[in-house]
Amino acid sequence: EGVPGLPKVDVLQRWVAEHRTMASLGKVASYIPALAKVDPMQLGICIIEPRGTMMTAGDWQVPFTMQSIAKVVGFIAACCHWGIPYVLDRVDVEPTGDAFNSIIRLEMHKPGKPFNPMINAGAITVSSLLPGDSSEQKLDYLYGIFQKVTGARPAVDEEVFQSEWMNAHRNRALAHYLKDTGYLACEVEEALEVYLKQCSIQVNTEQIAMIGLVLALDGFHPMSRKQVFPKEIVRLAKALMLTCGMYDASGKFAANVGLPAKSGVSGGIMTLVPANRRSHASFPDGCGIGIFGPAIDACGNSVAGVSLLKEMAREWDISIF
Ligand code: GLN
Repeated sequence: EGVPGLPKVDVLQRWVAEHRTMASLGKVASYIPALAKVDPMQLGICIIEPRGTMMTAGDWQVPFTMQSIAKVVGFIAACCHWGIPYVLDRVDVEPTGDAFNSIIRLEMHKPGKPFNPMINAGAITVSSLLPGDSSEQKLDYLYGIFQKVTGARPAVDEEVFQSEWMNAHRNRALAHYLKDTGYLACEVEEALEVYLKQCSIQVNTEQIAMIGLVLALDGFHPMSRKQVFPKEIVRLAKALMLTCGMYDASGKFAANVGLPAKSGVSGGIMTLVPANRRSHASFPDGCGIGIFGPAIDACGNSVAGVSLLKEMAREWDISIF
């Protein structure tokens, strides 16, 4: 039977079974060796609405690393400490249309300010900005922000972190370039450690749905009943998710799904249906959605996950537009 305000779970389970087959069109990320070992055919989803009711299907409990989804948390953390203007002096809010790890625009546009915090260049800059004089202190601040939402200190997947650290040639190149142009607020290796550890935070779909839910409610946590992040910062983060969160497929995702979302190369997608829309009767007013489907496309987005979200957006009429 269904939960009031939520669509029936058997529909979701059927869609997961159908869209799981789409994974054969993608591949698990292999440039981080530890990610290449994952079963590509997994697909799971968790939806949480403001009363805390969850709707889940498929491999929703499987742990995976946050990867680029952590860029949203890092950005919110830096803004909470410094305020929005300070952060936006150091990273812009424009989409690039380039790959997430692209370096080309840093030199093309003098003086090399990263275009947005949802791509690697911008996120490495944001990592360097986190308060503290060491990577430990910066991470401690970041973990505290995470804990405000999920209630637990996050754990880092050490194997994934080591794998990233040993293979981070492109991220190192980005960080050195940013150091040269003055956009890195600490040493290269310190910023990289913070950035790659935040990428290696272990989550499942429930935790990213929970973060999505707090974003859907403009920073209000419905279980602790506290405003955990200022509304202005959350609005900005959602605008960045919509315009830049799915990398160089952000335009297509906005067109086909129409929700703020952030993906990661481990196959996670964090998305949300904002509250206070002139609402659609068959869907709750404000909910967080976490997806895991490790086979990704050429842009780095979960193939089965995006396909499932397209179906949900069409059938449940949840586009924000
Ligand atoms: N750790 C990954 C990297 O920096 C994160 C990128 C991603 O999820 N797109 O390459």
